[in-house]
Parts: sequence; C-alpha cells; structure tokens
Amino acid sequence: MDYNVNGEGYYGEFGGAYIPEILYANVKNLRERYLSIMSEEGFRTEFDALLRDYVGRPSPLYYASRLSEKYGARIYLKREDLNHTGAHKINNTVGQILLARRMGKSRIIAETGAGQHGVAAATVCALKGMKCIVYMGETDIARQRLNVQKMEMLGAEVRPVTSGNRTLKDATNEAIRDWCCNPSDTHYIIGSTVGPHPYPDMVARFQSVISAEIQKQLLQQEGRQRPDYLIACVGGGSNAAGTFYHYLDDAAVSLVAVEAAGLGVESGHTAATIHLGKRGIIHGSRTFVMQDAHGQITEPYSVSAGLDYPGIGPMHANLAATGRARIVAVTDDDALRAAMELTRLEGIIPAVETAHALGALDKMEFRREDVVVLTLSGRGDKDMETYVEYFNRTRSDEN
Ligand SMILES: *Cc1c(COP(=O)(O)O)cnc(C)c1O
Repeated sequence: MDYNVNGEGYYGEFGGAYIPEILYANVKNLRERYLSIMSEEGFRTEFDALLRDYVGRPSPLYYASRLSEKYGARIYLKREDLNHTGAHKINNTVGQILLARRMGKSRIIAETGAGQHGVAAATVCALKGMKCIVYMGETDIARQRLNVQKMEMLGAEVRPVTSGNRTLKDATNEAIRDWCCNPSDTHYIIGSTVGPHPYPDMVARFQSVISAEIQKQLLQQEGRQRPDYLIACVGGGSNAAGTFYHYLDDAAVSLVAVEAAGLGVESGHTAATIHLGKRGIIHGSRTFVMQDAHGQITEPYSVSAGLDYPGIGPMHANLAATGRARIVAVTDDDALRAAMELTRLEGIIPAVETAHALGALDKMEFRREDVVVLTLSGRGDKDMETYVEYFNRTRSDEN
C-alpha cells in the first residue's frame, strides 16, 4: 500500500484542492512548479546550506537514558527543539521562502496559532528582505505575547483576527481571504501539512529532512535504520509527517500520532479531531473535521495553542482511516505532567505541544529492546506562563 500523495493530490480519499475560483491560477501554478523547483540543483544547494548553517541541522538524535529506564524501552528524542527559532517549523519556512522567490513573489502572508510558525515565517522574511504579514487570532495574541513581540521585532506585521474563537482556524480563514485579494504578488506560507494540494505534500517534503536524518542517525547509533516506534504530536501534522515520511511504507515501523484531548475526548472541550471528526472540507482539503450535526465546524480546545485546530492534514486522516497509524489522544493534564517529567528526568523543557507526544508513552506497552523515536518538536520557552500557572495550581490543590 502506498501512503503517499497521488498525482491528483489525494491520500486515499483525503486531500484534493477545494478552493475558490479566484485562487485557481495561483494554486495551479504552485502545483505545476513545486516539484521541479524543489529538484533544481541550485534550490537543493541553497536549501541544504541554510538548513545546516542557519537552522543548525542535523538536529541531534539524543538517547534519553533516564526516560528509557522509566518506560522500559530504548527511547531517542529527535531534537527539533534545538533548531533556530525553537521548533521544526523553520524547516518548512526556509523551503517555502526559497520557492516563493523562484516564483517571483514579493509579499508573504502566513497564519499562526502559538506563534511558532509566525516567528519562523517572519524570520525567513527578514533573512530574505521580504514583506511579511502574519494573521493571528486575538486569543492567541493574548496567550503568546513573546512570539508576537518577536515577529514585530523581525519586521512582520501581525494582524489580529477577531472572528470565531479567535484562534488558528480563524487566522487561517483570514490568510486565505488575503490571498484571494492579492493573488499575483503574494505567496501564502502555510505552516502545516494542511490546505489545498500541493501544500500538504510540499510541507511534508520540506519536513522530511527529519526522517532522513533519523535513518542515518539510528544506523550509526543502533546499527539499524528502522525504529520499532515513531511518535509525534499532531496539530495539522507537519512534524509527524516529517518524522514518518521515509517510513510510511515500511510496515515494520509502528507510527503513533498524538492529538490533543483537551479536557477529555468526550468533554466537549477538546481538539481530538481524528477521534471525533467526520469527513468534511476545511481550508481547501477533504479530511476529518470536528463538526456538529449541521456540518458546522465546532470550536476546538487545547491548553496548547499549536494543537487546537478542528481539522487534520489529509496524510494523517488517511493513516488513521487505513489503520496504518495508531492515534492516541492525550489530555491537558497528562501532557503537562509529561512536560514536568521530561524536565526532571532529562533537563529538557519541551513545548506544550510536544508534551502531548510525551504523554503517550504512558499509554503504550514496550519491550525492553524496542527502539522508540519521539520527535521533540519544540522547546518550552514560549509556554513558561502556562507551566507556572499549572504547577502553582496543582501544588495548591495538594495542600
Ligand atoms: C506548531 C507546532 C506543532 C503542531 O504542528 P504540526 O504541524 O502538527 O507539527 C507541534 N509542536 C510545536 C513545537 C509546534 O510549534
């Protein structure tokens, strides 16, 4: 079975490009050119050099010995948190800025939830001297001040979005609206493996450097390229797509995608899209969408601003529907506990999104010799307020 995208932009029954007429020319142009641009030698050379010297790749594959002891397996952490700007998002924005320039675009727009993608987009725009506008929900602006300040210092304009829940979905709607008004000079840098074809495939390819490195690093450190388990959190799905990419068709490798359960899958306050979603269309692609009986998209909730999205990338919808990946839902509480555990066992403060992937360890059964690679998608600096508030609260509950 082939779990990658087909020529029409579908992963099984998911994906495609459901877009307004006004964007046809743009999306068509991108679809026709992305693969050839990405395979040009000049592009590859520039992309690889920036990943190495600017982003700091390869990111280490770190054997976490105390975490391994705790869970009874050989656990490695793929350290995307050590990248420039603190998460995996920069791999994709570096790729897309180079692509935008080769397509003759002068203006960049982006959406952001937690602000990590906004910062990564603003960073590459500063690097290449391009105009950058970032759409961000007001709720997220309030909970992610530091990232807003970084984007502004980098020269981006942050436009507050006041529709809906004022989070990632709403910011994405506004970015798409902007693109409709400015189709000729603007490239829209989508931050995850979502949106109309070719975005999910393009973003997965830029992020696939993660699994290409895992193969090499595991061979060196374990004497084999293939782990028993790959674990990653999923918001839209880009760090998971990058982690799984070169292993998609290798059935010997178990893929585990972890989504945010919020207060609990059945609580009504959740972002467990794959558990609860029904087939529908969101932001240009057919996938699982959280919706009510009338097909209205329901508002997601998670403690993590990077995971509260009511859709899921089409690659992951297909991995779930076909049973290729196991989908685990982790609550706010379990994620925050797992963040504290990693901090105390390994001296690494993870992003609250990543903490969900860590929270899945506890829900799995390993054999001692199993090799597990968990992608540490980002660092926790941006989440310190969330952590401090949570641990103060739990401490006072105990007293
Ligand atoms: C944005 C983000 C995520 C979620 O996005 P994906 O596209 O699903 O990877 C996860 N972790 C971190 C640190 C992020 O910044």
